[in-house]
Amino acid sequence: MLTTREEYNHKKEQLCLQMKQAGTSPVALKKDTSNLFRYRTQKADVRLDVRSFNHVITVDAEKNVAEVEGMTPYEELVKETLKHNRMPAVVPELKSITIGGATTGVGIESSSFKHGLVHETILEMEILLSDSRIVTASPTNEHKDLFFGFANSYGTLGYALKLKVKLIPVKPYVELHHKQYDNAQSYFKDINNICKTQTIDFVDGTIFSENEMYITVGTFNEQAPYVSDYKGRYIYYKSIAKKEIDYVTTSDYIWRWDTDWFWCSKHFLVQNPLVRFFWPQQKLRSTTYWKIRKWAHDSTLAKALLVFQKKQESIVQDVEVPIDHAPEFIEFFHKEIGIKPVWVCPTQICNKDVHYTLFPMKTDTLYINFGFWDVIKSDKPDGYYNKKIEQKVRELNGTKSLYSTSYYSSDVFWMLYNKEEYEKLKNRYDPMHRLNDLYAKCVLKK
Ligand SMILES: Cc1cc2nc3c(=O)[nH]c(=O)nc-3n(C[C@H](O)[C@H](O)[C@H](O)COP(=O)(O)OP(=O)(O)OC[C@H]3O[C@@H](n4cnc5c(N)ncnc54)[C@H](O)[C@@H]3O)c2cc1C
Repeated sequence: MLTTREEYNHKKEQLCLQMKQAGTSPVALKKDTSNLFRYRTQKADVRLDVRSFNHVITVDAEKNVAEVEGMTPYEELVKETLKHNRMPAVVPELKSITIGGATTGVGIESSSFKHGLVHETILEMEILLSDSRIVTASPTNEHKDLFFGFANSYGTLGYALKLKVKLIPVKPYVELHHKQYDNAQSYFKDINNICKTQTIDFVDGTIFSENEMYITVGTFNEQAPYVSDYKGRYIYYKSIAKKEIDYVTTSDYIWRWDTDWFWCSKHFLVQNPLVRFFWPQQKLRSTTYWKIRKWAHDSTLAKALLVFQKKQESIVQDVEVPIDHAPEFIEFFHKEIGIKPVWVCPTQICNKDVHYTLFPMKTDTLYINFGFWDVIKSDKPDGYYNKKIEQKVRELNGTKSLYSTSYYSSDVFWMLYNKEEYEKLKNRYDPMHRLNDLYAKCVLKK
């Protein structure tokens, strides 16, 4: 749904007023959805209601730019841009991830080998600061420090209310090639080579086991001899091992992982053919699973039922490792953690002249994002396995996303995420500390 600049400006004024009226109290956002996998233990005094900032303002197909409100889910943004045969250059997989959330968090998808992480697709932002001012941050203006410091700041420097995002032209279909590998060395070597090919549009991979790995390459196509549909009876991730070539519509490609939350829908039994038959098709989506999960987290009944369950540790993480170390990481992962499948997504910095302050990446390196989301049985203290992963990623000069649980000590955390620059940004943009601190928020869950 579209809105106008006038409406946006009106809502913006109201929000500034809300921020001003809250005085110096700590603030947080009031939103209906979230894709964070950590629950905060403390509530902020004031929750800014930003739920109405969820519209696209303009889509300029000629300039390949969309102007969009900060809390707009990608589902909405994609719907509007596809009407113009365009899509945002990088679209995170889950429909309810918002453009502001993916920019201040770290968004990635299979076009990231070509366009970088989500924050590299952002051209300009209007950001609400904790002193109620709104500033425009761009890569070249007086707030460029905020522009480059925004990625991985998780709402601790300000709130993006409006963003300009880069679009790319699309064709109606995506042709997919799934290629199987049985050893990690040649698997990552081929990913490296494939990422140098400019004629393809998407690359990601799925590791089912030590000797069953797939690279999936996607290319836009005007035509398709047939079209597969993974929004209902058939499950996308299961098709990877069955088909060498496949065709889907561009919209279905973009949302291929949302229907079954990658493969995590198994926890809700919807991969059972009988359950799936009766499950309403429109409810096969990540937002449904979030709602059930939230209910289980909040409900006393669910907690009581889980009392007799064996102790387990939740391992829901995305980590980026330089490609040269990717075989070593996956070997460690199979041996020490053992979650399967693992999602693989190559990414790199595309504009080699820029540096994102709080999410350090080398400009001459291709990184592999490993995504793994499951629980494992454990008789160890909580965090035992997550800490092992953190340690290994550090050893291999990688970086961990902060949307889920983290166990770093303050010293290690700040060594990894650039304390000196963060403090400069904090002093300039949130000197009263109304917006929480990155370590307190992401590790201490405050
Ligand atoms: C199981 C799982 C799988 C995932 N897989 C992927 C993936 O494949 N690809 C990918 O890109 N990402 C993935 N993510 C991560 C996701 O992109 C991040 O968690 C992202 O930050 C979520 O955005 P959201 O819009 O849901 O924001 P929320 O969850 O609502 O908020 C995230 C943080 O950002 C802050 N925030 C939200 N909006 C704004 C804003 N407009 N301005 C400033 N701060 C704001 C909030 O205060 C909060 O701290 C995954 C997460 C999970 C749990």
